[in-house]
Amino acid sequence: MQINNFYNEILTEHNVRPEYKREMEDADLVLEGVNPSCGDDIWLKLKLDGDIIADGAFTGDGCAISQASADIMLGLIIGKKKDEALELGKKFLKMIQGTATEEEIDELEEAGALKDISHMPARVKCAVLGWRTLDEMFK
Ligand code: ZN
Repeated sequence: MQINNFYNEILTEHNVRPEYKREMEDADLVLEGVNPSCGDDIWLKLKLDGDIIADGAFTGDGCAISQASADIMLGLIIGKKKDEALELGKKFLKMIQGTATEEEIDELEEAGALKDISHMPARVKCAVLGWRTLDEMFK
């Protein structure tokens, strides 16, 4: 199965030079997300300003897909309201299940690069790890 080169480049870029993979000492919310089937293990950290996600970061280890997906997710949700972030998470899940519309995929911006994961069942848990952790965090 060949992944579109353009998408592949986005994933590689976020994996090699993640923007949000860093320590955050004064986070308001911290939660570990684990995907035992691959060995992905991340710590998601967010700073909140009322209902707005003011800043975010992650640390941990895992495969290229889990790390790139978490980095892309943070780029999308920082500056957004909690509810908007959760809504994006739902769209991401739909995309991974292959049921999202083109419009919904467009709203996911760079996260749309993970669209083809829907054809790779073994990697689905890697791709959704960051989003799943975010969802649990807000529950
Ligand atoms: Zn993985």
